[in-house]
Amino acid sequence: MDNLTKEQRSACMARIRGNDTSPELVIRRLVHSMGYRYRVSTRGIPGRPDLVFLRRKKVIFVHGCFWHQHEGCNRASQPKSNTGYWSLKLERNLERDRKVQLELEALGWQSMVIWECEVKYEDRADRIRAFLGQPKERPIRI
Ligand SMILES: [Zn+2]
Repeated sequence: MDNLTKEQRSACMARIRGNDTSPELVIRRLVHSMGYRYRVSTRGIPGRPDLVFLRRKKVIFVHGCFWHQHEGCNRASQPKSNTGYWSLKLERNLERDRKVQLELEALGWQSMVIWECEVKYEDRADRIRAFLGQPKERPIRI
């Protein structure tokens, strides 16, 4: 399983209930099926990454293209009304993302972002494997 406590699991289920094709869930299922084990929403790690690989000290974020303003992506175009409100709000999101990135780096975490629009790309498993390394680290016995 995913190393969740009962509370974490029910919080997780509550969040995804009725939306089980959410990009986060698609990626979690994929990563799980590839043989990796991870934690979700681990406290004490900046930015509350979607997937946390404690032993590898790596995290994966699944970012919504709009909320995190995926550069050059058509899903990231800003609303035409209430422009002042939206540009301020989205700029704050980006600032937070940059801050999280710096904090993670300072703490020695490596991170990867998978954008919502990339979730269905064929090469996503390869990219994840390239980032994480082999699924199971077998101890070397002599
Ligand atoms: Zn995008």
